[in-house]
Amino acid sequence: MADLKLTGARKAFGAVDVLHGIDLEVKDGEFVVFVGPSGCGKSTLLRVIAGLEMVSAGEVHIDGERVTHLPASDRGLAMVFQSYALYPHMTVARNMAFALENMRLPKAEIDARVKRAAEMLRLTDYLDRKPKALSGGQRQRVAIGRAIVRDPKIFLFDEPLSNLDAELRVATRKELAALHAELGGTMIYVTHDQVEAMTLADRIVVLRAGRIEQVGAPLDLYNRPANAFVAGFIGSPR
Ligand code: ADP
Ligand code: MG
Repeated sequence: MADLKLTGARKAFGAVDVLHGIDLEVKDGEFVVFVGPSGCGKSTLLRVIAGLEMVSAGEVHIDGERVTHLPASDRGLAMVFQSYALYPHMTVARNMAFALENMRLPKAEIDARVKRAAEMLRLTDYLDRKPKALSGGQRQRVAIGRAIVRDPKIFLFDEPLSNLDAELRVATRKELAALHAELGGTMIYVTHDQVEAMTLADRIVVLRAGRIEQVGAPLDLYNRPANAFVAGFIGSPR
């Protein structure tokens, strides 16, 4: 578990500024959701946190340590993408174990972590199957399992449910909430789904064109949006 701090984080691709100086602190164990229109920089912000992109200026701290120039592999984070990108030729168990094998963890430790993640995600009966024999929701749970087994300091999710149909999205969202309660890890989650944002977030960060428009608890944003733009991105509380 970890806290995260961004100070003046900027990102430019060539001459195009995508992030204009983001200041944000996320507390240990917090569930923070980024929302905003397509192209506003949500994924870029997540990738800058992950270390998959380096900031053009500003600083990134995790657990009080400056990680601004550290590569993704040294930041202790795990990212779950919209496209699950499972290895098709490997079983569910090996899909989850693979990164741990590369980290040279002892086999008993790997097996224990895979078993525990499979139990949490109701995948125990599917460990010997290949991804193509799974439903979309099960595949996405394997992708989440691959993150869990790494025991990351921070989980990063980029629209993880957007490829699922509506019913499955609701079920998987509830599982994610339960998972957060059980794991207690810090989670940073990108979505364009207002219901996901309102139900999952401790705090919502509303982004617009590479700047933070407003940050607050779901109810605070709902009751006191800073402007019409924020109001438009915040769904009903439930
Ligand atoms: P979002 O996730 O909110 O839809 P992105 O972070 O993916 O937005 O993209 C923000 C902007 O940055 C877009 O205009 C996009 O075209 C641009 N962008 C993202 N990644 C790159 C890249 N690798 N090279 C150039 N432009 C990029
Ligand atoms: Mg995106």
